[in-house]
Amino acid sequence: MSKVRVRFAPSPTGNLHLGSARTALFNYLFVKSVDGVNILRVEDTDFDRSAEVYVENILEGLKWLGINYDEGPFYQSQRLEIYKKYADKILKEGHVYKCYCTSEELEERRKVALSLGKPPRYDGRCKKLTPEQMKKFEAEGRTATIRFEVGDRVIKFNDLVRGEVKFDCSLIGDFVIIKSNGTPAYNFAAVIDDALMKITHVVRGEDHISNTPKQILLYEALGFTPPQFAHISMILGPDRTKLSKRHGAKSVSEFMEEGYLKEALLNFLMLLSWSPKHDQEILSLDKAVKLFKLEDLSKSPSVFDIEKLQWMNGIYIRHLPVKDLTERCIPFMKQAQYDVNKYAGRQLEEIVDSVKDNLIVLSDIAKYVDFYFKDEPDYQDVKDALYKPESIKVLELFPNKIERLSEFSHESINASLAEIAKELGLKKGQVLKPVRIALTGKTAGPELWRVIRIYGAEKCKKYIEHALKSRKM
Ligand code: GLU
Repeated sequence: MSKVRVRFAPSPTGNLHLGSARTALFNYLFVKSVDGVNILRVEDTDFDRSAEVYVENILEGLKWLGINYDEGPFYQSQRLEIYKKYADKILKEGHVYKCYCTSEELEERRKVALSLGKPPRYDGRCKKLTPEQMKKFEAEGRTATIRFEVGDRVIKFNDLVRGEVKFDCSLIGDFVIIKSNGTPAYNFAAVIDDALMKITHVVRGEDHISNTPKQILLYEALGFTPPQFAHISMILGPDRTKLSKRHGAKSVSEFMEEGYLKEALLNFLMLLSWSPKHDQEILSLDKAVKLFKLEDLSKSPSVFDIEKLQWMNGIYIRHLPVKDLTERCIPFMKQAQYDVNKYAGRQLEEIVDSVKDNLIVLSDIAKYVDFYFKDEPDYQDVKDALYKPESIKVLELFPNKIERLSEFSHESINASLAEIAKELGLKKGQVLKPVRIALTGKTAGPELWRVIRIYGAEKCKKYIEHALKSRKM
């Protein structure tokens, strides 16, 4: 049997958004699961709306996610000659006609049709133009589009997600295949490319399902065999309206900049419309490839839940080896202007390890590790808690204890803190609190023994002294 070939065909009219990323992901999961060929095609023939920055954003987003391609990127803007060749062919063979209606006229008629409760399809008025009428229009300066003659058939196809789908062509209306500026319309270019690129399965969003009958007609007219189709159901917001920024949906690059892990984002996206049979939720890309089946995609819309993504991100953060996590956190610390070189390799890992349980997204790191990078803490807001009479005693005793430690381990540090409590007849919390405030300027934070260990004896002593001195200021 010949190999499965799929394509992801984004239009670069905006950044890579979640819906498109999910389409790219499902194509990837499917094609990898059957050891097929994954193709990337940039559909950039809408010159008014396409932009190079969006192409870059899409390619970078896919690369960051780890969705790789075996062929491409191909650019439709570089294939105009090919579409022209097929346009000439189809013009010779029939099925199409020139249409001189302007967009204003079409819009006007569309409104009238809608107000009368009729389908707003093209009324076919240019179908039977005589050569004289055409000349007259051209003399008026009109440029023609080329329309495909649809006819009255019913088109049926078997959608791999939705089962049999039927379309009554009489509702479609003759559609444009070549725009008045000579560039191909989406349906025309997509069909030619899908055919020439030998695509076997078109896996795309449900918003394209109404294009499928038009494309099937074009396959037939051009003498190509249509591929199989699978239309993925839409993603909705929690209020069941079209997904938008309002629901926390951003572009892939924005999720990346905020510090979502690609592993979490992929895992989250794959569960929008798909669930593996055993309902396991935490799934790596490789694992998903092993379990994925197009037939298991759900027909009903999926609901985007930002809290679920955040939960998942936290899980992935906590499962990353600390070295890897630290590497991923460094750009966010640098962005917050922290001098990460202040700490040697392992120490920086310990810093990240000490706060990792608090992180929902990697950019959160900045607010949890700030004190590690400040010169000396400021006690203005925590004075009352810091300078209680028994706290002073703790601060006075602490440096001696720390000095005598031969090693800075979890156990030895905690043992000396316990000794202070015992010697002064205080509860554990009465010791931990002032020491924490003196060292960090904060009433809450990472486990204290970790802070002490990362600081080392010298810095601890310096800060305690600073706290005791600041009392008199
Ligand atoms: N360029 C189209 C889009 O971005 C692709 C549709 C298709 O996959 O056929 O929506």
